[in-house]
Amino acid sequence: MSAAAPLIDGFGRLHDNLRISVTDRCNIRCFYCMPDADPKYGPREEVLTFEEIERLVRVAARLGVRKLRITGGEPLIRRNLAHLIRALRAIPGIEDIALTTNGVLLAERAAELYDAGLRRINVHLDTLDRERFRTITRRDELHRVLEGVEACRRLGYGPIKINAVAVKNLVEPDIVPLAHYGRERDIEIRYIEFMPLDAQGLWDRDRVLTTDDMLGMLAAEFGPLEPLPDADPRAPATEYRFADGVGSVGFIPTVTKPFCLNCNRIRLTADGKLRYCLFAIEEMDVRGLLRSGASDDALEGVLRANVRAKWLGHEINSARFVAPPRPMYAIGG
Ligand code: SAM
Ligand code: SF4
Repeated sequence: MSAAAPLIDGFGRLHDNLRISVTDRCNIRCFYCMPDADPKYGPREEVLTFEEIERLVRVAARLGVRKLRITGGEPLIRRNLAHLIRALRAIPGIEDIALTTNGVLLAERAAELYDAGLRRINVHLDTLDRERFRTITRRDELHRVLEGVEACRRLGYGPIKINAVAVKNLVEPDIVPLAHYGRERDIEIRYIEFMPLDAQGLWDRDRVLTTDDMLGMLAAEFGPLEPLPDADPRAPATEYRFADGVGSVGFIPTVTKPFCLNCNRIRLTADGKLRYCLFAIEEMDVRGLLRSGASDDALEGVLRANVRAKWLGHEINSARFVAPPRPMYAIGG
């Protein structure tokens, strides 16, 4: 590996974390992400091949990228994902690979992904209630997600985390049961504030169940939560442990307590665009470069340019905020 200068933006933030979407397609229809019918998927030929992703990651790793997260859409619907995991793990400099999935196909795929070296997994699960799961995802797949989590536990995945999107007037009955579920299994629940990234423009500030609200609900059940003393300051989640020492929970307070100042992430969409923020309007194309025989130096140039162009932070809480043209499933959460 050469000692190329790392990816540092105009505000001094080091970028060593790349989130890679491998598809914009999904097998369920969470209302805060996808439309009910006819999602606008990009043409299949625009989706980066595994070889193209691998090449970009090689260049990114030379620039100091160490952590990868595979996401989507639903990454497990991409065939042979284990091949990609194996190839990415072998890239010099890559130290950590994680996957974010809705878990529907996990029971079937967990073993091959484990064999490919995957250990860290985030499973998206907002509720343990079958009816509410159906309301949220417009599909009846709760049992498969739960089976997927159990399959990962049996195989020895760790850490397993649960991503739970917190929508007000909907998931209040789920906050405490999810925490019990996590504590019983040594799984951290990460409650994620509802963000303005849904395809149907349903987001409204009044529909954000806030981190403070949820902390209050958990404290009423378990006693006051304590901030985790050794939490990574650059991680998006604010983590707390339960007073009795059994387990921890995390919050992604994007709306009420933005954590942009510590951001170390860039994103690659399934169709090969670089984004310096979930909420970015501007994107930079790498697919065209990858497919026109561009050199590694040219790929390095666009990675650097994207990081250099990064803003200080999103402006959800300002009148200037403009929601990005792509919804969550087309960005890669
Ligand atoms: N399909 C996989 C899944 O659901 O985990 C991976 C992609 S999904 C876009 C990544 C994460 O985005 C999900 O785990 C979910 O927690 C989160 N998410 C989706 N829409 C959201 C929204 N409008 N606000 C907050 N989080 C959202
Ligand atoms: Fe699919 Fe994930 Fe979006 Fe839900 S949040 S619709 S599982 S991509």
